[in-house]
Amino acid sequence: MPPKNRFWEFFEKLENNEARCRTCSKIIKTCGNTTNLKLHIAKMHNTLLEKRSSENTVHKTGAKKNQTRRHS
Ligand SMILES: [Zn+2]
Repeated sequence: MPPKNRFWEFFEKLENNEARCRTCSKIIKTCGNTTNLKLHIAKMHNTLLEKRSSENTVHKTGAKKNQTRRHS
């Protein structure tokens, strides 16, 4: 069994490295990976991702650097 990528939840796997979008029924060529699936979701159905990744919003804070003075 191929590893389940979360993007496959939005697509139905077809033959010849193609996938059909469950949302808009468009046929996407996968070329054996999920890059095109990712792009399609990001472009066309961005809201699908926002709903799922709502818990994963991590804001990076700039780390403060403590500068130590040199005593000569
Ligand atoms: Zn679609």
